[in-house]
This record gives sequence, structure tokens and C-alpha cells, in this order.
Amino acid sequence: MPPTFDLVVVGSGGGPFETNLSSYLFKPCDVPWADGIIALEAGSGIGALYHLINRNVALFDGLSAHQVYSLIHCFLISHAHLDHVVGLVLSAGALHGCRKRVCAPRSVLKILETVFSDRIWPNLASWDEDDAPFKLLYDPFNFDEAYRTVFRDSVSVRAMPLLHGQNDTLGDYESSAFFVRHDPSGKQFLFFGDVAPDSLAARPQTIAVWRAAAPLIPHALSTVFIECSWPSGRPDEQLYGHLSPEHLVDELVALAAEVAAVRLAETAAEGPAAGADAPLPPPPPEQKGRRRRRKRRRKLSADPPAPPPGPLAGLRVYIIHCKEDLEGKYDDPISEVIRNQVDALVRARGLGVEVLSADQGMTITI
Ligand SMILES: [Zn+2]
Ligand SMILES: [Zn+2]
Repeated sequence: MPPTFDLVVVGSGGGPFETNLSSYLFKPCDVPWADGIIALEAGSGIGALYHLINRNVALFDGLSAHQVYSLIHCFLISHAHLDHVVGLVLSAGALHGCRKRVCAPRSVLKILETVFSDRIWPNLASWDEDDAPFKLLYDPFNFDEAYRTVFRDSVSVRAMPLLHGQNDTLGDYESSAFFVRHDPSGKQFLFFGDVAPDSLAARPQTIAVWRAAAPLIPHALSTVFIECSWPSGRPDEQLYGHLSPEHLVDELVALAAEVAAVRLAETAAEGPAAGADAPLPPPPPEQKGRRRRRKRRRKLSADPPAPPPGPLAGLRVYIIHCKEDLEGKYDDPISEVIRNQVDALVRARGLGVEVLSADQGMTITI
């Protein structure tokens, strides 16, 4: 299948460097950047973009940073933490071009409203379609199964809730995952905002995202962006609502179990006893059992000279949101260190997923 999206990594770090914070710009492959751009998170903003374009003028077909920002149609925001919105806030008074929508869950927009309050920052955003065109337009997402068009009848998005930590007085702190679909081809990618491990959550939420993703993998959905803020060995009580390599690989094992369950159901449905319209059975409730079944399936289908490709073969996972190594503990860049740690764990589990890191300035074709 031909590629569907071009995505530029404006920033992919998890802080505290303000120069490299979560910020991605993308468009459908078959149109030029000048036709319009979608922003995914807005941590690092026009300043980081300015430096990236100075180093590589071809990054956006020769457009300047100001031109690129003016071409943004909407900002998809997973949650309201500063490292995901500060670029949007700082540039809000200097944006040109069409009216820009801020697409996020309503709870996230309500928090943003406290920033655009004429206190922390001037009120440069509104809920009103008919308000002044220079103001950002709050455009709330519902967490339902529907995909919403966000760009020219060709890109639509489904948002799902994630847990990103708890607070004794305020309760759960919510973030979101986005399924971004190229409507003409049906191809999608999955982007995670910051997320805590399901295994430590009182009410696990990531599993629902994996359950929604499993039937699409790998043909309709072959690229996932997910955070791994910390390197290996980080104690659970110091994760602060983020993943480490051990927890990320647990999440990928959960995804692999969902994919295996879907394929098993498909195989059963193809058999003579199964009706074509039979609903998918619910996934097995207990992970250990699912692992055992996968092992048995692998044994039956193993081809001795080459290891089996693994349940997630054909899937690329980009590691994002690595927190900077301020103490200089590692010789290599932290994103490389964490990628290597995740890759080793993924290989040991035989998942078959390709692990990559999304680094600032990269263009990723999806
Ligand atoms: Zn966060
Ligand atoms: Zn963050």
C-alpha cells in the first residue's frame, strides 16, 4: 500500500529541555505542505521549527517557520500539561492563515481555558464559531467510537481516554490516545499522549486502546507512537504517570495478546462450524492463559531455520517523550538508550515489533 502521511518531528522529548518538547506536524502524502497542516501536540513551537528549518530548508518544501505555522488547520492535543501545549500558547497571538481549531477532550480544553484567561496569557481562544477569526477555536472531542473529520474530508481522528496519573484530591489525571485515519485509504496510525502503566492502575484504560487497535494490525495500522519517559530500572513509585521500558513491553505483550485473540477468532470463523456472522468472542480474561496459547500456536507453526516473526510482525513502534539525562548518566542520547532497552526486551519476548525512536527533525513516512 502506498504511504499515506508525512510527519515531521518538531520535538519529541519529555522535558525538561524546552527546545525539544512533544510536537509533530503532519499532512497526507499526496498533497503539498502548502495545502494545510495538522499539528499533533504543541510543546515545542515556532522557535524549534525555526531552528529546524534553518538547518534543513527543504524540510517543508522551502516554507518558512512562520508560513508553516500559518498553514496549521488544527492542533490535536492529548492533555494540557505544559510540555504539550506551551508552543500553542506562546504563538497564539502571532498566528496567521485560517482559523485554527484546538481539538482535545473537553476536560483538556477546560484546563487550557484557565491559561487563556487574561492572567497567565491573554484570552486568545474561544468556544464560539462566530467569534473573531484570530482566536483559536476550542473544538472538544468526545470519547466515543466515532472518527471525526479534522482536515479536508481526508483525515479523521478517534480519541480514547488514557490514565496519566492520580492525584489525592483531584482524582485521575486524564490523557488521550488518537487513532488518526487517512480516509481515502483507511490507513491509520496510533498516537499516545503521556500514559501510566495499566498494570499499576486501579482502572486500567490502555487495554481498551489495544483492543481497538488489534483488528487493524498490521495492514490498516502499522505505526504506533508511544511514550517511554524513563530508562530501565526506574522504581514504580517514581514513574509519575509515565512508562519505563519494562512497562512499555508489558503493554506490547497485552497488545500482542489482543492481536492473537482476534486472529484466533478469525481462524475459527473461517472454519466449517463457525457462522460467518459470528461475533468475536471476548478476549481471554487472564494474560497467563493467553501467553500459553500463543506459545502453543508458535510451536505448531515454527519453521526451524528462522524464528517465527512474532504476533506483532509488521508493526513499527516509535518511542517518544524520553526525559533528558540531565546527570549525564549515559554516553548516548537518552532516546537511543531507551530504544535499545525496549528493543532488547521486545526481542526477548519474541513480539516481532520493530522499535524505533522518533527524533527531533526527522521526517517519518507512514
Ligand atoms: Zn503529561
Ligand atoms: Zn509530557
